[in-house]
Amino acid sequence: MEDIEKKESKRFFPGDSTNVVPLMRDVFTIPTSSRKRPKLIGSFCKECEEHFFPKTGSKATCYYPSCPRSTTEVMFGEKGKLLSANVTRVSMDSTQERVSAVIMLDEGIRINSHLIDWEGFRYLLIPDTPVELVLEKLNEDENGNSVVNYAYKLVTGNKKPRYDIPEVPVKRGRGRPRKHPIVELPEGAEAPVKRGRGRPRKHPIVELPEGAEAPVKRGRGRPRKHPIVELPEGAEAPVKRGRGRPRKHPIVELPEGAEAPVKRGRGRPRKHPVSELPEGAETPVKRGRGRPRKK
Ligand SMILES: [Zn+2]
Repeated sequence: MEDIEKKESKRFFPGDSTNVVPLMRDVFTIPTSSRKRPKLIGSFCKECEEHFFPKTGSKATCYYPSCPRSTTEVMFGEKGKLLSANVTRVSMDSTQERVSAVIMLDEGIRINSHLIDWEGFRYLLIPDTPVELVLEKLNEDENGNSVVNYAYKLVTGNKKPRYDIPEVPVKRGRGRPRKHPIVELPEGAEAPVKRGRGRPRKHPIVELPEGAEAPVKRGRGRPRKHPIVELPEGAEAPVKRGRGRPRKHPIVELPEGAEAPVKRGRGRPRKHPVSELPEGAETPVKRGRGRPRKK
């Protein structure tokens, strides 16, 4: 099983080669043993209990400006779940596809990554599909080293790949592709009844005899406490109160040219007002608290 995967994919397995270099330094680890798994290199703040990726740098303080803690380097990111996945083409005129994904890691942060080895599992490119961190072989550098990057792959368990969904449609027309191809019916055959979108109704629509009144349909959600009152024509709509506590002092609009009143600062007013000293004057010596010392 692993062997088939190994041959077909661009996945790099730790231990495959010793001549291996990361695409970027300090972003992920490359284990030397096949029994070990790669990890992302990130930061962790003990105060906020939060992970960051890529890492915030050595001796860096927490990502949050209000947090004074410095972060520590941590290895993490082995497992997560898809939040969303997006299939794109490598280039405009290429049929080669790649999948970029937003992943929620088990450690509680979301990251962007691309997926590998999703071929045949297009139907699992949906939210909540589990993913795991892997390494992807990109190319060889001038020294013959394998250049690898981190990527994620779907955890498919014992789910079977499905290739019935065309991977590369022939010359795609404009717009969203049809979900169901057009089937031409033999002459005289009746067209199948088209099922509407969504879950079938629990209670089929009952056609009412003519003249009968249709039952009042209750809207979704909790019924209104105060029913909407329709106003007679010409009546003024009641003034809608804004959200929150009403102002103690209503905003007074000042006549043009008038000076705005001096706003009093918060808290108890000073007992001794701060006197502005003339320039050059010495600041008076401030007496310490409590009874003066006996000499
Ligand atoms: Zn913090």
